[in-house]
Amino acid sequence: MIEQKRALVTEVPGPRSRELHARKTAAVSAAVGTTLPVYVERAGGGVVVDVDGNHLIDLGSGIAVTSVGNANPRVVEAVQRQVADFTHTCVMITPYEEYVAVAEALNELTPGDHEKRSALFNSGAEAVENAVKIARAATGRQAIVAFDHAYHGRTNLTMALTAKNMPYKHHFGPFAGEVYRVPMAYPFRWPGGAEHCADEAFAAFTELVHTQVGEENAAAVIVEPIQGEGGFVVPAPGFLARVAEWCAGHGILVIADEIQTGFCRTGDWFACEAEGIVPDLITTAKGIAGGLPLAAVTGRAELMDAVHTGGLGGTYGGNPIACAAALAAIETMRIDDLCGAARHIESVMRPRLAALAQRHPVIGDVRGRGAMLAVELVEPGTREPDPARTAAIAAACHREGVIVLTAGTFGNVLRFLPPLVIGDDLLGEALDVLDAAFAANA
Ligand SMILES: *Cc1c(COP(=O)(O)O)cnc(C)c1O
Repeated sequence: MIEQKRALVTEVPGPRSRELHARKTAAVSAAVGTTLPVYVERAGGGVVVDVDGNHLIDLGSGIAVTSVGNANPRVVEAVQRQVADFTHTCVMITPYEEYVAVAEALNELTPGDHEKRSALFNSGAEAVENAVKIARAATGRQAIVAFDHAYHGRTNLTMALTAKNMPYKHHFGPFAGEVYRVPMAYPFRWPGGAEHCADEAFAAFTELVHTQVGEENAAAVIVEPIQGEGGFVVPAPGFLARVAEWCAGHGILVIADEIQTGFCRTGDWFACEAEGIVPDLITTAKGIAGGLPLAAVTGRAELMDAVHTGGLGGTYGGNPIACAAALAAIETMRIDDLCGAARHIESVMRPRLAALAQRHPVIGDVRGRGAMLAVELVEPGTREPDPARTAAIAAACHREGVIVLTAGTFGNVLRFLPPLVIGDDLLGEALDVLDAAFAANA
């Protein structure tokens, strides 16, 4: 295991990273952006080691992917065993047990004790696309309702579902049809104030679905139980439960996109649990397989089985190595109680972030759940977004060897997604660096 400490031996990025970055610029499409151009040599636990020998603290987990820690020993062992046994057959040609075992685990772990089925894919966007296909086939309806600030991916259909133009949709249209947008119950930015947010957002939701779509035309509502790229927006309490109840009354499916929130990230196996909702379909990816590409749709058996045979699939979906990694990652989450670890991370981070907000009025909101926490930066005393200061503080953290990510429709949210195995000392040190970065950019 890599020593769990922050240690800078060069400036960040160092000379070897700068050299590699020049090669990247010459070889890789400029459209593939870079948050922090340090080139990685090794990573483990809560530390990323770059090619110049700098040890950085990881508060990003590769966007909520390496929840069990990078190169988690159980995942490494499972992958090594599987890669030596066989690497690919295509589950649609000659299947294998690992795929079935992942589906069984998903059916057991996702919310609700109804009978379920799962199908596996390669990426989150692919899972979302398939959830929409399933919802349409199972209901015989076409319209999909998505929320403001939503992020569901970068493929054509998922771009249509994603709310944010830059950088996800700009110049990439036309987008897929039959997608309708409704407001999210975003307490900090709700025009009528946080206390009226759930009621007013619910009223707007039902009115828009009724007047612009027609209940009987709506196949599904897709929602992130805590919005990820949109800025870790936690819907106003009770909003999602009311939406889900109303949808059930109109035969409209609820698709919970738990790609970022799933697998212990928010302190439960899935974020829907804290909202008390049981989605009809749930999409997962990111944290599922310790860093290997895997995604899934899990849902009610009668919906999942409503699609004609051969209607779902793909060459690589549920690749055996990715499945072996997922089984090891899920076992780690169970044995090491990573849901408990996520709640512990919140108990360490939230008071520190609240204290930071006390000292720095540029922090307008502290929010999130478990190890999915964020601060939203504004002009003090207003809700005017401050993306420039957000970027400056992120850059200051990066220079000091702490990987933090930004998010938000207005680019003014600092989000924290530490690996769930991060130690308290490392987390405390990262928060000290964040503290100093705020002080230097006050
Ligand atoms: C990341 C993400 C996706 C897209 O996943 P990819 O694997 O990048 O295609 C979809 N939905 C949510 C909520 C996400 O966070």
